[in-house]
Amino acid sequence: MEKKIKKLISGYENIYIYGFGTAGKWLSGNLGKNIVGFIDSDIKKVGKIFSGFKVYSLEQAKKIIKKDSLVITTVLDIQDVISKLESLPNDKWVALGNYLKNTKVKNNPIDSEDDSYVEYSLKAVESCHKSYFSKNKLFLKSIDIIITERCSLKCKDCSNLMQYYKKPINISSQEILDNFDDLIRNVDHVYEVRLIGGEPFMNKDIYKIIEKISSQEKITKVVVYTNATIPLKKEEIKTLMNPKIVFSITDYGNLSRNTKKVIDFLSANNIPFRDHPPENWTDCGVIFDFKRTLPEMEKLFTDCCGKNLLTLTDGKLYRCPFAANADRLKGIPLDKGNSVSVNAKRNKIKKYTSDIKFIPACNYCMGRSYDAPKIEPAIQTKKPIDYKVYDSNVIK
Ligand code: SF4
Ligand code: SF4
Repeated sequence: MEKKIKKLISGYENIYIYGFGTAGKWLSGNLGKNIVGFIDSDIKKVGKIFSGFKVYSLEQAKKIIKKDSLVITTVLDIQDVISKLESLPNDKWVALGNYLKNTKVKNNPIDSEDDSYVEYSLKAVESCHKSYFSKNKLFLKSIDIIITERCSLKCKDCSNLMQYYKKPINISSQEILDNFDDLIRNVDHVYEVRLIGGEPFMNKDIYKIIEKISSQEKITKVVVYTNATIPLKKEEIKTLMNPKIVFSITDYGNLSRNTKKVIDFLSANNIPFRDHPPENWTDCGVIFDFKRTLPEMEKLFTDCCGKNLLTLTDGKLYRCPFAANADRLKGIPLDKGNSVSVNAKRNKIKKYTSDIKFIPACNYCMGRSYDAPKIEPAIQTKKPIDYKVYDSNVIK
């Protein structure tokens, strides 16, 4: 435990941890006494218990927190919780990341996560919080880059809208890298770049893209997503062994026909990966004109867990993969409010990424609230799904 944290908590008898994620659980196992419990906005986490500490909703916390309590936030997207922290009746809250410094995990209380993953999560919290409080810097926690519209699977409820592409294409590495260079020129630090599709390995240029992006100094981590249908190339091992690279493997059971090969390859070469089943699927792959009012769109955006999945495509940065792909598909009316140009001024990018109430695309989206009902993942469709195509000349 960092000395700074020990000093911080001394004198506080009632401590709450905001955020029931990896960093929050680690903190609870290391602070020991004087913790009362967790607070989390995700209704599915409320009532859960970890190490004997209960998770309270924000509304419950408002009723029980005393004025002299300390709240420590562990939430990565700190800009989303500041107004919530300030609505609590206690006098003081702090951001955990400001008290961390390349923390090594000695006492890991989370059985399901290994030490390296906990350290990875703590580093993310440290980077996000420190950068957020450096007001003259532009920090982005993560950027998703669309590598391809093609996928080896055809999930009818894909949240990235692959089920609608009738003639899917790979995006050229030149275009991707040029867009990325333009954006990164304006940004001081990106914690994590996530390479997504479709299936990124459908694009043969993927290794070149991985190599170039992971060599960029302003990037801390590169997460490569895959559905493990395509084996990795042995001859590209040098590229994949860059210590910044982590794989995220979604294991769709029989559909992910090369999971074992991919995992064996990564394990044999000590390349870190997370192998997991499809998680938290909700009905968010629908494009429809819901004719929402402005307050309804603001509410949908506030409750959306996807609104900080910044997505880069076509020379623009979007708040989420839904808006980026819906625009590529012309499945929503063209509207400049949906994105910001990679060549925009820093303050414009900063405002778009941290200080807007909704995007016009929210009118066409089911939303991704934490309490949305779960659906069966990865049901396959034989044909692309029809949708309404908007005239691209309509510019608002
Ligand atoms: S959800 Fe299915 S269709 Fe969408 S990218 Fe993943 S594997 Fe492909
Ligand atoms: S369009 Fe709006 S509601 Fe839908 S995922 Fe994006 S930010 Fe969330």
